[in-house]
Amino acid sequence: MADAAPTHKSKPGPHSKPNREGQAAGSDPQAAAAPVDFIREIVRADLRRDPATPPVTRFPPEPNGYLHIGHAKSICLNFGVAEEHRNAGARCHLRFDDTNPTRESPEYVRSIQDDVRWLGFDWGEHLYFASDYFDTFFDCGEHLIGQGLAFVDSQSADQIRDSRGTLTRPGAPSPWRDRPAEESIDLFRRMRSGEFADGTHVLRARISMEHSNLNMRDPVLYRIVHASHHHTGDRWCVYPMYDFAHPLEDALEGITHSLCTLEFEDHRPLYDWVVEHCAPVIERVLGRPSRPRQIEFARLNLTSTVMSKRKLLALVEKGLVQGWDDPRMPTLSGLRRRGYPPEAIRRFCQAIGITKFPGTTEVGVLEHQVRDELNRHSRRHLGVVRPLKVVIGNWPEDRIDTLTPAHNPDDVTSVERALPFGRELWIDRDDFMLEPPKGFFRLSPGTEVRLRYSYVMRCDEVVTDAAGEPVELRCSVDHDTLGRNPEGRKVKGVIHWVAAASAVACEFRLYDRLFTVDDPDAAEGGYEAVINPRSLDICHGWIEPALAGVLEAETRVQLERAGFFVADRHDHAAERPVLNRIIGLRDSWARRQA
Ligand code: ATP
Ligand code: MG
Repeated sequence: MADAAPTHKSKPGPHSKPNREGQAAGSDPQAAAAPVDFIREIVRADLRRDPATPPVTRFPPEPNGYLHIGHAKSICLNFGVAEEHRNAGARCHLRFDDTNPTRESPEYVRSIQDDVRWLGFDWGEHLYFASDYFDTFFDCGEHLIGQGLAFVDSQSADQIRDSRGTLTRPGAPSPWRDRPAEESIDLFRRMRSGEFADGTHVLRARISMEHSNLNMRDPVLYRIVHASHHHTGDRWCVYPMYDFAHPLEDALEGITHSLCTLEFEDHRPLYDWVVEHCAPVIERVLGRPSRPRQIEFARLNLTSTVMSKRKLLALVEKGLVQGWDDPRMPTLSGLRRRGYPPEAIRRFCQAIGITKFPGTTEVGVLEHQVRDELNRHSRRHLGVVRPLKVVIGNWPEDRIDTLTPAHNPDDVTSVERALPFGRELWIDRDDFMLEPPKGFFRLSPGTEVRLRYSYVMRCDEVVTDAAGEPVELRCSVDHDTLGRNPEGRKVKGVIHWVAAASAVACEFRLYDRLFTVDDPDAAEGGYEAVINPRSLDICHGWIEPALAGVLEAETRVQLERAGFFVADRHDHAAERPVLNRIIGLRDSWARRQA
């Protein structure tokens, strides 16, 4: 997998070892706990009751945008449940719910498949398109008409909306409600053959205009849309509504548990109505009955994040970000480019669990999983993001020593690498202060600091520019301090550095949260008014040569004291490294400043 860092141990994915029922797979101790939630309990109980019917789930995105972190929750749930019962024959489908031609495109179909795979899931041969079922949907429409359960309504969309009634007032029946079935069938077929303009007729269910649930008041099942479809081209100009198509898709694929978010709870009676009344058509197609069951769970909401495809599309179209996979986007492709490991996203989904209670999760919970994963698996190097030159006066001009620190000092199996040390170094300008406040243990005029893996160094002299900004430090090292602290010497601060002679120039892209507030959707002026103007800071610095030698696109690394970084998926090149900051390390100084 391209996202593996060089020392990244080959770990089993979430589905590589389906050992026991309900047991999350993998040798990773953190992933060992089996998820338990009300949906998994239902699935287990159903399987106990009827072992011959394995659970079949689906992830049903509409290809009208890129997937976001909210979708990851649904993906982990649907594929996870199937995984846990793989031995019983369970499976999970990837189905494109592509029934709305105007907003869908093959680009989205491709990106969705890439993202699901990247997250670590595999649908095998079970890739489906709702648009492949258009003929059957149409047959179901005709069947309902024949049963007196649907009719062609010739009112306008406004008239239909206005006659729907309210929660306290019943709706008014359409004047076409008792249209003879033959007439409706004829009109429905002519709708399909392209005889009518958009909006002139619709197919409606004939349920009740007095139903307490507004979704049941003769809902529209089909509408006319003269538009090319990404998958069926110009073959169709009538398209089914979500509430009609979705239960039929589930039934046709033999889905047993149709897991969706809570907004659909009020639609469940209609879901069941469609499944029940179209059962004869489905049975004719499948040769057996199929009764999917819809179960709702709370969607994921994250602080500091907008999570609707419509809003994410607006960010892209207005150029407020650089594309769907901009590393500041909460899309899976954005998080990937940002360097988030898929394992961390899966762990996050497991940690938040599945419930019926709507809520908002702190984005810090996700960041914690990312940091935790990176801490355990990324190798460490030295790199300087905002460089300040250091010249060591008591080091010979042409002498280069090679130090050999391990990549991860906490990991005994970690290998060593060559780290050159010379007279000229780069250090980070944040590690030097002309007038340090109390408690600043890094470098300032006359003070000493430990250079990571090497000597204790003192700042003897500061060269400043016209504005009084330090541009170079003249320092000296204590030759007696390589890897040891002489008796009685207390040097508190440790800073990172890179030897200038062999350093490799690197572009650093420092990302921060895209929004400045916790709830961008609630902001006055809308989410666009609270975009963080400092969410991207580009710096030009240096990395040690051993790192430059192993960097490939998507390699993740910890730059000591600077944070976790990933080589950009698109822009990184060996001769021109580009590192995106994934996330910072905890910095006690920054915290105290705040
Ligand atoms: P959005 O509301 O962000 O535009 P959507 O619901 O329209 O997304 P779909 O393509 O219909 O996007 O979603 C595919 C599946 O992902 C659906 O089953 C949906 O319930 C689920 N899903 C979407 N958003 C979330 C979320 N925030 N949390 C959990 N599941 C989600
Ligand atoms: Mg949707």
